[in-house]
Amino acid sequence: MKKNLPILYLILGFLGVWLLLRYTPYPELDALLNQPYSCRIYDCNGNIIQITSLDDGLKREFLPLEEISPQVRSVFIKAEDKRFYFHHGVDYTAAITAFFQNMSSKKTIRGASTIPMQLAKICSPVEVHSFSRKLQDVLNAYRIEARFSKKKILELYLNSLPFGMNVCGVNSAARTFFGKPVNDLSPEQLCCLAVIPRRPSSYNPINHPTECAEMAREIADGLSFANTQAVETAAKTAQAFEYPYKMPHYILYLKKTAPQLFENYELHLSVNMDVQIQAEALLSEALLQAKNSRISNGALLLINNKDASVISWVGSENWFDDSVSGQIDGVLVKNQPGSSMKPFLYALAFDTPDEKGNPLYYPSKVIADIPQEFGGENLYIPANFNNRFNGPIRTRVALASSLNIPAVTILNEIGVDNYLNKLYELGFDSLRHGGKEADLGLALGAGEVTLYELVNAFSIFLRDGKDFKGNQIYSQDTARLICSILSDKSSRALGFGYAQTFETDYPSIFKTGTSNQYQNITALGATKDFTIGVWMGNFAGQTVIGKTGSSLPAWVAKNLLDYVEKSVEKNIQNYDKSQVYEKKDFDKPENWTLQKICSLSGLKAGPNCPASVYEYIKNGCELESCDWHKKNTEGDIEIIFPSEFQQWIKTNNINAVINYNSSPLTLLSPRDNSIFYYSSTSATKQAINVQVIGGSANQLSIFYDNNPSFQVQRPFDFHLPVERGNHTCTCVCGNEKITFNFLVK
Ligand SMILES: [Zn+2]
Repeated sequence: MKKNLPILYLILGFLGVWLLLRYTPYPELDALLNQPYSCRIYDCNGNIIQITSLDDGLKREFLPLEEISPQVRSVFIKAEDKRFYFHHGVDYTAAITAFFQNMSSKKTIRGASTIPMQLAKICSPVEVHSFSRKLQDVLNAYRIEARFSKKKILELYLNSLPFGMNVCGVNSAARTFFGKPVNDLSPEQLCCLAVIPRRPSSYNPINHPTECAEMAREIADGLSFANTQAVETAAKTAQAFEYPYKMPHYILYLKKTAPQLFENYELHLSVNMDVQIQAEALLSEALLQAKNSRISNGALLLINNKDASVISWVGSENWFDDSVSGQIDGVLVKNQPGSSMKPFLYALAFDTPDEKGNPLYYPSKVIADIPQEFGGENLYIPANFNNRFNGPIRTRVALASSLNIPAVTILNEIGVDNYLNKLYELGFDSLRHGGKEADLGLALGAGEVTLYELVNAFSIFLRDGKDFKGNQIYSQDTARLICSILSDKSSRALGFGYAQTFETDYPSIFKTGTSNQYQNITALGATKDFTIGVWMGNFAGQTVIGKTGSSLPAWVAKNLLDYVEKSVEKNIQNYDKSQVYEKKDFDKPENWTLQKICSLSGLKAGPNCPASVYEYIKNGCELESCDWHKKNTEGDIEIIFPSEFQQWIKTNNINAVINYNSSPLTLLSPRDNSIFYYSSTSATKQAINVQVIGGSANQLSIFYDNNPSFQVQRPFDFHLPVERGNHTCTCVCGNEKITFNFLVK
């Protein structure tokens, strides 16, 4: 027993040393283990978009050892530590050989630093060449060996090795010197790469190809897969390669909104570089066509309807062009969207019930597109974009042709607050500032929103009214009705003609918009799978000249949708066009049925109606027969308009009969409590026009202030003389009466 004691002490001694090496704190190594790495960002097809830089501009990618090819490993092991797998941190054979070689030549021609010793040096990078420093590296090499497997040591080493040029790790180094990932290098290029870390200032192949090649040949010599003759040529292929820098606006957006994504070694995004390149090219072409219209920039966003994931994001035409503020991201800039907001308002109107619980608005309902005044304290008189008034217009046509007065009529009825709340639900957070102030102008897209918000909100109509979190924002049928209207070519014709711009051979919806002062033009488009938004204008907010460019964003949107739809087709096996489109056709509203209606009155088409169309009518809502078209005693068909169109009929010289008694006595103009301003220069011509419609009798008696009363006949359209002060006017028609006040200042 006693004679075994020395062996026991020896074992205990070794164990003690090992425990010391293994468990004494080594904070520098911990820091190395936790060092940050660059993030490789890929598109959906595995194309590199960007490789992020660390704080000081350093590029250092991480590759797990199993993803580093055996060739790469063996070249670096041969170059730096031949017996790496056979020592425990220090290679005494190499040390003794080096000692005698250096003695005989009286200068350092080779070192005997093993990979663990070099790793120790990387942990504490202080440039002191001393015996104690060497001893420290030796001790630390043992500590590293005691802690990690060979695999882990090699992995840490290959990913941390400095190459100069602000690059660490073999993969980033391969990219910097040879423009490709390390696994794609030729064996000879690999040998050149492996000598750089020995002394980057002397062996950098960009500046010193000959010196680099000379050293690299030694490594290539004896490697079965390398050709020593080809090393010099390989060294000369080195140059300072640029890193890919694509989609800078989107990456910047992600860094701000989700910085944690970049803490990973790799980030795989939903974006598609093929589509992105196509999008950038289309936008550039449109901007070239618009260059005389002060349209200097544009932006584009294409998302997948399924989950709102981004496929293409173009923030500006050129990130690097400061003359057009290229680094501003047009996807996130707030602009007036104009009419592209209208679908959100109409959808709310379809979802709002009247007092009977039926929809307040529906596609067949007629709205008066006639000059009108709206508003509370602030008088608001909208006009259509072509300054034409279309009289009675069906809600479907009003939206598809983007008429202004019907939109304001609807907003005035549902209320600005209700609409704003719906817009917040849709994600229009930008409207929390300035939305309320835009007031009825919101109907025409006067509040400022971003293209990002617009595209995401628009995609809701393709998801049956649900946002991408699954919240039901609009009812399913409303969303489907909006798709039916925005894809309706004939209803669009009143506003846009039969524009080729919107012609697609797959189901699609479009909506365009122009801001009040023509600074911005927006187009939204969608298919069942994708939603796109395109903005064009300038970041300086200058008025765009002319309206010629107004169809360009729609042209871009349509062409990119064509591109992505065709790419989808290509990926479908045994593709049968009819089948695919049938599958992709918009779903029909479930609780609505197509019925034949009169295209003028929106009522059930009768035998006298000259034109009829099919329209969705809500199940259970009884459609009345058209009473606007009637045969007179001579057998001709007469049009009988409701009384609210009396002025419009007069202005437009329309040959029609007015059904004066179709409504209760109503004041059309002026609004009650209006304020007028007296102008002393043209006093003689000033008078206040009064228009009243409806009423049961055909004569109107007017009582103006304390003057004696006077009478007017149909149409009730007359003038009151102007005098400064408060005035009261009462109109009596049969047993109906209305009174209004106004002030002349
Ligand atoms: Zn009719």
